[in-house]
Amino acid sequence: MTQQTASAPNLLAKVDTFAAFVCDWLTDLVFPPRCGNCGRVDHRFCAACHDQLVSLPLELKSISLNSLDGLCATGKQQGILAAAVKSFKYYDALALCDPLAARLVAGLDQQDWPIDAIVPVPLHADRELERGYNQSDLLGQQLARAINVPCQPAWLARIRGTGQQAQLAASERLDNVAGAFKANADVHGKSVLLIDDVVTTGSTLRECALALRAQDAKAVYGIAVSSPQNLSLTARRTSYGYQHSW
Ligand SMILES: [Zn+2]
Repeated sequence: MTQQTASAPNLLAKVDTFAAFVCDWLTDLVFPPRCGNCGRVDHRFCAACHDQLVSLPLELKSISLNSLDGLCATGKQQGILAAAVKSFKYYDALALCDPLAARLVAGLDQQDWPIDAIVPVPLHADRELERGYNQSDLLGQQLARAINVPCQPAWLARIRGTGQQAQLAASERLDNVAGAFKANADVHGKSVLLIDDVVTTGSTLRECALALRAQDAKAVYGIAVSSPQNLSLTARRTSYGYQHSW
């Protein structure tokens, strides 16, 4: 009797998993996945585009932003790099973590930043649950292994949801994320490297840096995979010292 009671939830879980598998299979059958870069059917990001991404040269851009001791992006948010970031972030193309993190490693190699710990820009818990992963956290973990520095996602939390920054104008982004993050006391005296996939106006990274500094971080740096080319004029109109140009 006990055995039957214990196995019932197991059976239900298996049925659930199988139903999800069938559901995914049917969805893929009706709407087959397409490569986020070239559109080829059956791949979220096809092997040819993956190879192209791996050989895409680093185009490091330094960005000056108040509250950060240094900030850079590894390329322009356009073409295959933009497609890769989008596929990685929204469409579960998790194999892209390797080539994207490799760009961060190469970019960081050109800086002389003393880093004690890596801190990914956090998603709100609801968003992470919905997406299933935090793309910045995956990049941060990969980068941490490559450069042998600890990744400390628990050092910074997003304490309220902020919607999607990408849908807001530059002038609205700062207000939207103001006070959205909280750091814990472990950052005291540490030099921290923030990781994000895209830096646009810098408002999210700035708020993260302020939260870390409120807990007496010694220094805060930031690195992102990409940054848009054409937001320099808009960004310079903001009042928090953003300088953004290739
Ligand atoms: Zn492709």
